[in-house]
Amino acid sequence: MTASVHEGGCVCGKVRYKVHAEPSIVVVCHCEWCQRRTGSAFAVIPKFDKPEFELCSGELKVYREINEYGRWLDLGFCATCGTNIGFTQERWPTARAIDAGTFDDPSWITPSKHDFRYIFVRTNHDWTNIPEGSQCYEDQLPT
Ligand SMILES: [Zn+2]
Ligand SMILES: [Zn+2]
Repeated sequence: MTASVHEGGCVCGKVRYKVHAEPSIVVVCHCEWCQRRTGSAFAVIPKFDKPEFELCSGELKVYREINEYGRWLDLGFCATCGTNIGFTQERWPTARAIDAGTFDDPSWITPSKHDFRYIFVRTNHDWTNIPEGSQCYEDQLPT
């Protein structure tokens, strides 16, 4: 696969980052934690290998959450404006999840090209639609 670079950042512009690859998977997460941390209906989270993520400027503050399975998630956000950039987690130690909406142009992420998985659909609200034929999981993604 040819090397691809995509850039993104936070609302105030202090945090800027690049990813140097295509995501291995794109998780669309309807869990209540993602709903709360994003303030939205669900999270769209392309996943990369940690070395494919480069923080170019600014500082990512980290908040550690212990989830309902007793595992940690480190949520990264801009220390100035609070924008969620994504997270790392104990369950997938080599992966970095990036919140899709923080890319300068998130339109390159598409189900026609990437492997989309819809998870925690048991807490999906009836005011959001999951596209027909999607790969859905009631709970977390199986390992
Ligand atoms: Zn910021
Ligand atoms: Zn989630």
